[in-house]
Amino acid sequence: MTTCRFCGSKIDLTLVDLGEQPPSNSYLPTADAPEKEFPLRAVVCEDCHLVQLADEVPPDDIFTADYAYYSSFSASWVAHAQAYAEKMIERFSLGPNHKVVEIASNDGYLLQHFAKAGVPVLGVDPAAGCADVAREKGVETEVAFFNAKTAERLKAAGHGADLMAANNVLAHVPDIRGFVEGFAILLNDDGVATFEFPHLLNLLDQVQFDTIYHEHYSYLSLLAVEGIFTVCGLRVFDVEELPTHGGSLRVYACRTKSTRHPDQPALSAMRVTEKAAGLHSRLAYQGFEAKCQAVREGLLNFLDAARLEGKMVVGYGAAAKGNTLLNYAGLGADDIDFVCDGNPAKQGKFLPGSRIPVLAPDHIDSARPDYVLILPWNLKDEVSGQLGRIRDWGGQFVVAIPGIEVW
Ligand SMILES: [Zn+2]
Repeated sequence: MTTCRFCGSKIDLTLVDLGEQPPSNSYLPTADAPEKEFPLRAVVCEDCHLVQLADEVPPDDIFTADYAYYSSFSASWVAHAQAYAEKMIERFSLGPNHKVVEIASNDGYLLQHFAKAGVPVLGVDPAAGCADVAREKGVETEVAFFNAKTAERLKAAGHGADLMAANNVLAHVPDIRGFVEGFAILLNDDGVATFEFPHLLNLLDQVQFDTIYHEHYSYLSLLAVEGIFTVCGLRVFDVEELPTHGGSLRVYACRTKSTRHPDQPALSAMRVTEKAAGLHSRLAYQGFEAKCQAVREGLLNFLDAARLEGKMVVGYGAAAKGNTLLNYAGLGADDIDFVCDGNPAKQGKFLPGSRIPVLAPDHIDSARPDYVLILPWNLKDEVSGQLGRIRDWGGQFVVAIPGIEVW
């Protein structure tokens, strides 16, 4: 029996069991390098409604020395960050007397836009390498894991925040309670914190089971987040739906005692949507595993047919979510010749589990594959736009989720 990582209740509702898998971001230096596998199973707490991983990988096995992800590598993400900064500066009238703090600030991809607009910033990120790059952009960065203790230290040092941003980090922290408590501590009295995370409702509706991987501890709904925030001293007052990562929520929260931020209509609307989808009961979760199995069957049938016709299939995008899909389907280099990725840090390596080689995108031009399977389906428009030249030799694009689509 599993215990809920937030409320401590006993859990006996499994969302999906994806088997034993290596950590998704542990790329291998050689095709036969040793690797460890850990259970990958998502479960649902029926008391606080937090969907979470049942098993934890020891941190030493996740954050390998090779772990290198700089946000600025995705063009659409850079544009998203700029739009966020402009919107927040306008909505909350931020200026030189305010402070914006971002948690998991990475290479300063987001805070640089506030800094350019003259708003003081502080980034917080545990990766020293990222912090060095950020400082070159003029983004002061504290190298630390964020939690209540870090928040108290920063507050005492005069870093009380008028806006705190946490984009795609809430789902990645093992101790969600200590993390959220830190926001209630570091925010100034009427400060605002925004959190972006993939919406559980889309995961369920679009069978996005490949967003489940070991570095991703929680799968969040407004329902679960409001409950967690209330316990930790925050109140949600607004929510927006975003297209990022296959459909995300941006939640706006303030300290419980702040009266400056009245509840917005979108909040009650989203509560109704989630209730109608059955997130409060077992209804929304039962039957999900069968849908995952159907997606796997669809991909295997497609690959079998391609093999019979002598067609070549390669992958595009060596992202964490691709690894969950490939390993759940039990695929290897016999099925997909190679996967291309624009990140030089991944090129020349092998995907964890499937051991498919990762090559630079120009290998597509020499191999002239019949099919390019886009693994990060959330970027399918961006990727198919960049790779439109595969039409020159009759190549086609494929995505596997929520079902096989060839175009
Ligand atoms: Zn719970």
